[in-house]
Amino acid sequence: MRKILIVGAGQSGLQLALGLQDKGYEVSLMSNRTADEIRSGRVMSTQCMFDTALQHERDLGINFWESQAPRIEGLGVSVAAPGSHEGPDGSQRAIDWVGRLDGYAQSVDQRVKMAGWMETFAQRGGQLVIHGAAVSDLDFFASRYDLTLVSAGKGELVSMFGRNAERSPYDAPQRALAVSYVHGMGPRPEHPDFEAVRCNLVPGVGELFVMPTLTTSGRADILFWEGIPGGPLDVFQSVKDPEEHLATTLELMKTFLPWEYARCTKVELTDAGGTLAGRYAPTVRNPIGRLPSGGLVLGVADVVVANDPITGQGSNSAAKCAASYLSSIVERGEEPFDEDWMRSAFDRYWNTAQHVTKWTNAMLAPPPEHVLNIIGAAGQIQPIADRFANGFDDPSDFENFFFDPDKANAYLASLTG
Ligand SMILES: Cc1cc2nc3c(=O)[nH]c(=O)nc-3n(C[C@H](O)[C@H](O)[C@H](O)COP(=O)(O)OP(=O)(O)OC[C@H]3O[C@@H](n4cnc5c(N)ncnc54)[C@H](O)[C@@H]3O)c2cc1C
Repeated sequence: MRKILIVGAGQSGLQLALGLQDKGYEVSLMSNRTADEIRSGRVMSTQCMFDTALQHERDLGINFWESQAPRIEGLGVSVAAPGSHEGPDGSQRAIDWVGRLDGYAQSVDQRVKMAGWMETFAQRGGQLVIHGAAVSDLDFFASRYDLTLVSAGKGELVSMFGRNAERSPYDAPQRALAVSYVHGMGPRPEHPDFEAVRCNLVPGVGELFVMPTLTTSGRADILFWEGIPGGPLDVFQSVKDPEEHLATTLELMKTFLPWEYARCTKVELTDAGGTLAGRYAPTVRNPIGRLPSGGLVLGVADVVVANDPITGQGSNSAAKCAASYLSSIVERGEEPFDEDWMRSAFDRYWNTAQHVTKWTNAMLAPPPEHVLNIIGAAGQIQPIADRFANGFDDPSDFENFFFDPDKANAYLASLTG
């Protein structure tokens, strides 16, 4: 039986561990926290996952929360009119539409999911080691395994994987992130009959994403500000008190996005761990890490491709990476997991991930005219709104109508005659 070591118990590490376990591999999993510590700790993400990624979980039979988590059937875009927050008519929206998803999306608080999956892995006989691994630990352990995978997210172990400058156009964070999980938020009045992720754009300032989730205390909503660094939303770093964090979130909503604030008159934090603030530079890394004694390890998901959460893709990509690596590992049979194999396993994943990276990095920059035209036209032409929404499930489609001005214009012309 082939022995595999996985370091890091997040979306990718746990999905891969459970998948390999199911296929009969002997898997050891290292986590720097216990399931209980994760469950009672701080929120880590907004983790909205779309149909393709959710299907990878269904395929492994680990979609344990699917019937409880809210079904997100739409994805809407609202753009604040220029200067609207300064004038008396503060609720003005320049653009406002919602696209329908072909398959529903869901967000299950990672505190719920990772704690639950970790317990399942151990119950199924997996070896769970609670230890924050250092490079020296990996150097010691890796030679005892046929393959070592590093799925430790954006933590310190990324230092083993060199930054790929060609694939990383930004060398600094492009957004300051601030998340609040709340109970008591009202529905968006335009579509009380279905749930949607609402993307609210304030040009030159940042974005607010609102979405339903399943958290440790049941159904909740997430308020997620992405602020342009140095701008009016970049004020959370010094806020340590969760209640102050929520009050600041709401105050900024009142100023910039009064239509979302109007849904929040009765909100309260889900729990003391229900807030998060931070920032990171989007980075693509070389997939193979070399240990001091010469052994090789393969990076997984955020370790090798970390995009800004503006497009809500990291958990989706982690699920897709885990599914892709699982296939590559199984197809390798008894052959060695050597450098060539590692490179080809990553390249196979990059076929999907490159589209996510290109689209996400594009969304961090001010939109060019042809993109504004598409987002504007989606308010009048429902198929455009639907196509944009479904791009969150399969970002490779943006190649066909979004990036290139000629393709964008041809697409619009095909719909408007
Ligand atoms: C604010 C925010 C909002 C987001 N919203 C979305 C969204 O809506 N949709 C979406 O798809 N993505 C979203 N993401 C991104 C998504 O959460 C991540 O991309 C995803 O969790 C990455 O999965 P992973 O398995 O690579 O790493 P992680 O989920 O980060 O898991 C890594 C694990 O390894 C552990 N670890 C770290 N170092 C060590 C060590 N040395 N030894 C042992 N264990 C270690 C960590 O504690 C963690 O448990 C968001 C991210 C943020 C920050």
